[in-house]
Amino acid sequence: MKDSFKHKGMRKKLVEKIRQEGWIHDERILEAMMRIPRHLFLDSSFEEYAYQDRPFPIGNEQTISQPTTVAFQTQLLEVKKNDRILEVGTGSGYQAALLADLGARVFTIERFKSLKEKARKNLRMIGFQGVNLFYGDGYKGLPAYAPFHKILVTAAAPELPDTFFSQLREGGMLVVPFGKGGVQTMKRFIKTQEEIIEENHGDFAFVPLLRDKAE
Ligand code: SAH
Repeated sequence: MKDSFKHKGMRKKLVEKIRQEGWIHDERILEAMMRIPRHLFLDSSFEEYAYQDRPFPIGNEQTISQPTTVAFQTQLLEVKKNDRILEVGTGSGYQAALLADLGARVFTIERFKSLKEKARKNLRMIGFQGVNLFYGDGYKGLPAYAPFHKILVTAAAPELPDTFFSQLREGGMLVVPFGKGGVQTMKRFIKTQEEIIEENHGDFAFVPLLRDKAE
């Protein structure tokens, strides 16, 4: 599958829609979304759906997050070049690609081996080799690669394990949809020398963060 003018046209419409909604003011994110062929992160028969502003199934009962949500979480992270970022929940690899495109050093962890392998293939297909993929339980983080400037959780966390805070640098940020049940609050935590600042950024619906590795 290629990235054709037709795909670029659909992508432009999607990015325009997100810009019009007015939530995303960081133009770098919209420009990066314009560069990344989202259809290459879905099975080829679903390419039309790749440019609708909706989540979409990627197998193993998981979804690629809605584009607006991806953009919003990315904006909360205030990504800077060379930030070390841990993503919990690789899924399709699309969010990881966006972070890498913005210049971050990305470490992403997924509890399904098959999804991790598919994400690796997707990232290779678009020519992104700088993303480090791991198969494992995101609840444990990646102690060998910590500390991180930023941690992004892309599944709904019913609780917040200590690892999310201990693997964060001072001055670092954790963005996580927090809550049990169908609706979660998007939280941003900022770790300073003295305290952890907590902010709320609206309601979202994610697939749940689950304990332990799967097959
Ligand atoms: N960021 C993804 C969307 C991910 S959906 C994208 O851009 O496509 C959430 C993902 O989190 C799913 O793939 C799910 O399998 C994974 N997940 C859930 N619990 C996890 C855990 N404990 N550790 C690692 N990954 C987990």
